[in-house]
Amino acid sequence: MKKILIAEDNAVNRELLRELLEMHGHTVMEAINGEEALRIVEESKPDILLLDMGMPVLDGYGTIRKIRENARFAALPVLAVTAYAMQGDKERILSCGFDGYLSKPINPTLLFQELERLLSRAERGTGPEDRAQAATEGK
Ligand code: MN
Repeated sequence: MKKILIAEDNAVNRELLRELLEMHGHTVMEAINGEEALRIVEESKPDILLLDMGMPVLDGYGTIRKIRENARFAALPVLAVTAYAMQGDKERILSCGFDGYLSKPINPTLLFQELERLLSRAERGTGPEDRAQAATEGK
């Protein structure tokens, strides 16, 4: 089972995600903004990060930029979780270095499909190339 970090400012959304992930046996850590998420990434080395886009202090865009700038975390799988549902937003999000995209409200089937895809890819040791590919394919 995996160590999953949820960065999300809304307590209800955090709780919902936590319950879903713990039901599947994952260990869950929580951050309420991007700055806290960066600290936990550094200290606790999660296997995957679920990153809300709209957060105070440091939002999803600022957080992914800092993560991808750091060579040690360049391969960390990061899934955007957001209410921004416009087509242009999805493309913008994927072009920023996210590995995937989930819109709110979270569909549990899609959530676990994406986790499976990203975690199996991480185990094969691939990353940035797949990320560029997924962005091109609009996944
Ligand atoms: Mn938010």
